[in-house]
Amino acid sequence: MQRASMKHLIDILRAEHHLESNGYKALLECDDDSVVAYLHEQAREVAQGVFARGIFVRGLVELTNVCRNDCYYCGIRNSNTALERYMLTTEQVLQSCQQGYELGFRTFVLQGGELPRDKAQWLVELVSEIRQRWSDCAITLSLGEWPREVYVALRKAGADRYLLRHESHNAEHYAKLHPAEMSLENRLQCLTWLKELGYQVGTGIMTGSPWQSLDNIVEDIEFIERFKPQMIGLGPFVPQHDTPLGKFATGSAELTCRLYSIFRLMFPNALIPSTTALNTIDVKGRIKGIMAGANVVMPNLSPANVRGNYALYDGKAITNAEAAEGIEQLETQLSTIGYHIDWGRGDHKQCTIHNA
Ligand code: SAH
Repeated sequence: MQRASMKHLIDILRAEHHLESNGYKALLECDDDSVVAYLHEQAREVAQGVFARGIFVRGLVELTNVCRNDCYYCGIRNSNTALERYMLTTEQVLQSCQQGYELGFRTFVLQGGELPRDKAQWLVELVSEIRQRWSDCAITLSLGEWPREVYVALRKAGADRYLLRHESHNAEHYAKLHPAEMSLENRLQCLTWLKELGYQVGTGIMTGSPWQSLDNIVEDIEFIERFKPQMIGLGPFVPQHDTPLGKFATGSAELTCRLYSIFRLMFPNALIPSTTALNTIDVKGRIKGIMAGANVVMPNLSPANVRGNYALYDGKAITNAEAAEGIEQLETQLSTIGYHIDWGRGDHKQCTIHNA
């Protein structure tokens, strides 16, 4: 497609928040730098229209690297015996939250491997305790797949949001990334339950995961378009050497940023983190993500001695502006591009302020 018609396509996406499949595909395939720059610029403008130049921060507490699942890409998969397993105590989690609260965080994200089913009650009590201590904070969970009643109990205990990437909306591709016990169907069922239960829901994919085609990504975009999550999580695939997919190539920062922009134009109000994985493969990743329309960063609040063991992928950035203690560094980094931290809870706005 000609440059002018590609730009026209981007204008349509901005105005109508939707394209036909071949339009999304054309944006993903486009190798004209000036078109990609235009895409990022439009997305940035839209993000600024909704969020000004504020970037929300979420304090990430990596609860555990114990996991009952065995995703082929993930370093904390059950079969990885090269990893020392840990589980934070209630006290450690509360201390991390306390430290985060003092630094100014008003959202805590509890993320972890998928604990054995008999740990559900512990999780419920933990959420309930956090809710009582910090009633002004949002609690986000990213703890994988559970039966519906566990999601119900966690929501009642005070959880507000849930992140569960669908990973791939193509069943064949999904099956290449996960063992037979896991299914796309169950993943999607969980996402539907979470939404029904009134969580603000986040979903997404790894860009450049093994065997992923651009057509697969178009399917993911179209699923997200229908599902309308409040949060969209996207990071490049990064191999982890002790996993079956450890020899595959790293995903692309460029494609990840391009997707941030596409999703920003589709969903002006969405909460889109500039992810740690992006910042791991590109030293300027966080900033590039924001310049492409992302509006959230998730610094690490986990106790320093366990961070190295939450080894989802090789080289995971765990220090400096990626860590809660590095919040000043983050402020400085954001100020160089004219942005700042927005210390609010940053709930998803239901109202639609388009193209301000
Ligand atoms: N157990 C939870 C949390 C998993 S970790 C869950 O399954 O939802 C959160 C995200 O990290 C996953 O959804 C996955 O997309 C990402 N991740 C895992 N391994 C990765 C890898 N090798 N490279 C990049 N991202 C990875």
